[in-house]
Amino acid sequence: HGQVLKQFRDPDLGRRMAESTRQRLQRLADKLGRRPRFMEFCGTHTAAISRTGVRGVLKTEVDLLSGPGCPVCVSDYSDIDRAIAFSTVPGAIVATFGDMMKVPGSRTTLQEEKARGADVRVVYSSLDALQLARENPDRPVIFLGVGFETTAPTAVMTLEQAVREDIRNFYLYSMHKTTPPPTRALLPDPELQIDGIILPGHVSMILGRKAWDFLPSKLQRPGVVAGFEPVELLAAIDTLADMLLTGNLSVVNQYGRAVREEGNLVAQQAMDKYYSLVDGPWRGLGTVAGSVLKLKQEYAPWDAEACFAVNVPPTQIPKGCICGEIVKGKQSPFDCALFGKGCDPIRPVGPCMVSSEGTCATYYKYERM
Ligand code: SF4
Repeated sequence: HGQVLKQFRDPDLGRRMAESTRQRLQRLADKLGRRPRFMEFCGTHTAAISRTGVRGVLKTEVDLLSGPGCPVCVSDYSDIDRAIAFSTVPGAIVATFGDMMKVPGSRTTLQEEKARGADVRVVYSSLDALQLARENPDRPVIFLGVGFETTAPTAVMTLEQAVREDIRNFYLYSMHKTTPPPTRALLPDPELQIDGIILPGHVSMILGRKAWDFLPSKLQRPGVVAGFEPVELLAAIDTLADMLLTGNLSVVNQYGRAVREEGNLVAQQAMDKYYSLVDGPWRGLGTVAGSVLKLKQEYAPWDAEACFAVNVPPTQIPKGCICGEIVKGKQSPFDCALFGKGCDPIRPVGPCMVSSEGTCATYYKYERM
């Protein structure tokens, strides 16, 4: 395995591949009459494409747009506000991943509420939250479930454990989302002119390659399920260009060491058992049909939304923040007047600067001259 990874990071191989990819992209540009545009739908790819220098190396040949691939960033203000409001439930412990702490809601953050005395704890997994519930049987422990297919199954597998042990003070607030629906929603947008998609590696481990077959069949776009090493990213871009040149569009799995055709059936079954897919809001995209995973009615005793009525303030978007446009790939962080001038990772104005998977945070770290 180590040997394989070494090869994926081989600088000589990378340079040779970059050259041939550049030539292929130029041929594609000639065919299209403009620069090709590819989008990645995964925050880890956004960071990897910048960190490895792939974005810079190919910047004259291809536009690499970053899509809605950061779960914190695509959580709507109303969801963030509700998550923060749960910290006001009497006696409650709110358990969350670290990157939610600084995410600005309309008026405050979880971190600010903690400073004011709310009991908000950073956990590393949903199982840690369940342990908090075991240790504090008299207090409601509300776990904030944020993330795509990679974290949605683990949250309900934890819930399964709570059901099995009859732990009644563990609650899930599910903001979990699935990734194919926003892909379907964004691609036809003529303003974006996306020619091909770099498909998420980790999400595809759960969903399987075939979950993306609708791209060529319904939307006439090619896709490549890609890994995260420089050579893998270059290979994905090269393959997209090749498919567009030949007109032979499909979904190619280039992350075969982790992604299977059918995906992870155990995780898929857990999701089917506990969640219903409902229409729900995404930052920037508005309501996306069948995209949000909410607990089914029969699990209402563990559903924070069903059990605690909280006051959610009217949404207020911070002045000047264009995070909603950034998650759609319509604008870049450089288009935001606050980027580095009032908004930075220490004092983030919007969620795109908070999460390490956020496009603004990535550009702040790697793309500033
Ligand atoms: Fe929002 Fe900050 Fe990004 Fe501007 S730089 S879009 S204010 S998160």
